[in-house]
Amino acid sequence: MGSLNIENVKKSFGQVDVLKGIDLEVADGEFVVFVGPSGCGKSTLLRVIAGLEDATSGRVVIDGKDVTATPPAKRGIAMVFQTYALYPHLTVKNNMGLGLKQAGTPAAEIEKRVAEASAMLSLDPYLQRRPAELSGGQRQRVAIGRAVVREPSLFLFDEPLSNLDAALRVNTRLEIAQLHRRLKATMIYVTHDQVEAMTLADRIVVLNGGRIEQIGAPMELYNAPANEFVAGFIGSPK
Ligand code: ADP
Ligand code: MG
Repeated sequence: MGSLNIENVKKSFGQVDVLKGIDLEVADGEFVVFVGPSGCGKSTLLRVIAGLEDATSGRVVIDGKDVTATPPAKRGIAMVFQTYALYPHLTVKNNMGLGLKQAGTPAAEIEKRVAEASAMLSLDPYLQRRPAELSGGQRQRVAIGRAVVREPSLFLFDEPLSNLDAALRVNTRLEIAQLHRRLKATMIYVTHDQVEAMTLADRIVVLNGGRIEQIGAPMELYNAPANEFVAGFIGSPK
């Protein structure tokens, strides 16, 4: 569970064409990284997959089911944002469990899933704290935990490490890689960081101006970039 097909997806805001026809197939369990310059449409594409934006045309298919018109909560996905988006008045435990509670999950099941996720993400000591009492890295782990407890077949990450300092970025990146191995879920991850892309990805999708320049395994792009743009982004030796 967790395959994704994007079929000729276009998205315009008014007169501005942001996505100009995106086609992409992601296999169940794959880790796919979107890279590209600021403004090229990475977040918009994630938001269309999540259902937070409607595509202007084209289809989004998850596990063989056309979800183009399905509301976000019914797509079986969870999204992790750069800015964490935690509730300041709720404890870590309640931040992690809130989505399940709203979905009507029984309390005992919420308890179990929060315990599992907090163990996985080393959050046990912080469960009774509020977000203001946590470091940036801990907050981002809570945001990831909140996604994990929902047991989605598809995770979407939008530059989840960009507000963290260098050392924490490395740790959190390794945790995300470990999570991918443990959960075997499909993950789609946006970054503008070349090291993140090269180390996390099964395949990298290079976006530019609302189009895909190239798709391939990290070493494929590195050794055989399709054009100057990809070469510049993935950083083959000049
Ligand atoms: P990226 O994540 O690659 O930096 P975005 O997907 O956020 O790029 O944005 C791509 C383009 O779409 C930008 O030019 C941005 O200004 C525009 N855009 C994004 N969201 C909206 C919106 N809600 N209304 C109008 N323009 C938008
Ligand atoms: Mg963005």
